[in-house]
Amino acid sequence: MPVKNRFAELQAEITAWRRDLHQNPELLFDTHRTAGVVADKLAEFGCDEVVTGIGRTGVVGVIRGKATGSGKVIGLRADMDALPITENTGVDYASRTPGAMHACGHDGHTAMLLGAARYLTETRNFDGTVVVIFQPAEEGGGGGKVMCDDGLMDRWGIQEVYGMHNWPGLPLGSFAIRPGPFFAATDIFEVAIDGRGGHAAKPHETVDPTVTAATIVTALQSIASRNADPVSQIVVSVTSFVTSSEAFNVIPPRVTLRGTVRTLTPENRDLAQDRFEQLCTGIAAAYNCSASVEYIRNYPVMVNHDDQTDFAADVAREVAGDCAEASLVMGGEDFAFMLEERPGAYILVGNGDSAMVHSPEYNFDDEVIPAGCSWWAGIAERRMPAA
Ligand SMILES: [Zn+2]
Ligand SMILES: [Zn+2]
Repeated sequence: MPVKNRFAELQAEITAWRRDLHQNPELLFDTHRTAGVVADKLAEFGCDEVVTGIGRTGVVGVIRGKATGSGKVIGLRADMDALPITENTGVDYASRTPGAMHACGHDGHTAMLLGAARYLTETRNFDGTVVVIFQPAEEGGGGGKVMCDDGLMDRWGIQEVYGMHNWPGLPLGSFAIRPGPFFAATDIFEVAIDGRGGHAAKPHETVDPTVTAATIVTALQSIASRNADPVSQIVVSVTSFVTSSEAFNVIPPRVTLRGTVRTLTPENRDLAQDRFEQLCTGIAAAYNCSASVEYIRNYPVMVNHDDQTDFAADVAREVAGDCAEASLVMGGEDFAFMLEERPGAYILVGNGDSAMVHSPEYNFDDEVIPAGCSWWAGIAERRMPAA
């Protein structure tokens, strides 16, 4: 099964959908127009059920096979939201909304899953039920979690879930995947370090939070280098260091730090948080300051399940002839929440030699469409073969 001929026929149409979405990007949960377009198309294709408003602006479509006696139900998930970036691609279908852009290719994901839904409603060549899931707020907001909290998995009896992301740098239309931990947990922190401000020429009459905070920034690197097992992956990045005074000659009373911690196992996630809090409060105390730490657990580690990963790779091989082993990614992905609820797998499809995602120059490559759609269709047809 190479690329399905039907998707070669549909490519121009799916490309037009993708470019329309690209021109009309929406952020986080505000994917009202996008959800409307998706729901209208799913209804037009003849989905057996189309439900909006799952996870605020999420959309679900149900497609029953020629037979459903197997009792199998598979969820296929795409994300719909854009990023708060001003586009700089120069394409004639560029974003018409200043400060918003499909810089992660979710326009392509949505269009490809719509293409697959079109094909699956036409052919229904499987024994079971496909649930196509279109989620908002992948780029922060945890739309996948909100859909799960809304009862997504139980309401439709979903047994397995699959996701896909385009990947710049991977050859166009090729696939890569790995079992186990794949994308990182993306926790964030804000630390307020309080001392006593005063004249910069009289530091002995102050308690300087700047030197304290600088020491903390340096010490936080010991979590990765001295606490975590060196063969594991962990990133601690302080991304913001703000003093409460900008004067040349004033020691400020407060410094605020912000940043993110990335880990790939629950053990390292706990370890990093414990050490983080100890280092901040311990060093602050040693320097006569106080530290208040707000440590927020954001997206969890995204873990691919072994059996579904093997299957997803098999389908990818049938479409593209090969499936590479993907590298670990220290970025986050809120499909992690769906994989916590149900077994499944998340695969990368190559976007070729393009700008990186989240860049103002990035664009989804429409040549990916036949391969991406064929993989989705293959997941349904191969996992639930018709008699
Ligand atoms: Zn992204
Ligand atoms: Zn993305």
